[in-house]
Amino acid sequence: MPTYYLVLMCDLDGLSALKPKATSVYALSLRCVYCQTIAETSAVLDPSEEEVEVKGGRSTATMTWKCKFCKRDGNLMLKGLEAVSEKKKRKEEEQNIVQVIECRGAPEVIGWDPALSSWVGTSSSTSESEKPFDVDLSQGDWCDFDEEGQHPVSVENAKGTVENA
Ligand SMILES: [Zn+2]
Repeated sequence: MPTYYLVLMCDLDGLSALKPKATSVYALSLRCVYCQTIAETSAVLDPSEEEVEVKGGRSTATMTWKCKFCKRDGNLMLKGLEAVSEKKKRKEEEQNIVQVIECRGAPEVIGWDPALSSWVGTSSSTSESEKPFDVDLSQGDWCDFDEEGQHPVSVENAKGTVENA
């Protein structure tokens, strides 16, 4: 089954890490593997929603998807970072893989938009009372001030790319 890694590219300042929240949604651009039509609207995968039954099967998926053009369908599943292959795992940090999506049938992931996900940033200054920042990328770049460490924190040029597993 085709598996795709969602990779976050961005410039961090004053932050050591930026991770999606466990409840974060992922807005995906999909293309149909059969007719190559690119969906006009992005598909939003929401981990808090109940999984759906796959037609005729015994398995479940995060969501089902149907190509508007050729009407063939399939489904998508959020796999989480545990699904990153051993080979890739070593590079997970530097590549910043944030989520793993498995596709069955028609959908193929060709892009995703980090602006619609919710993020949590860890300050680069280490202190006991350090609390993570809620990072909102919906307006593009994000910045705040770390009172604890007395330095600005920001996320700029966030861009989502997709890699084949
Ligand atoms: Zn199609």
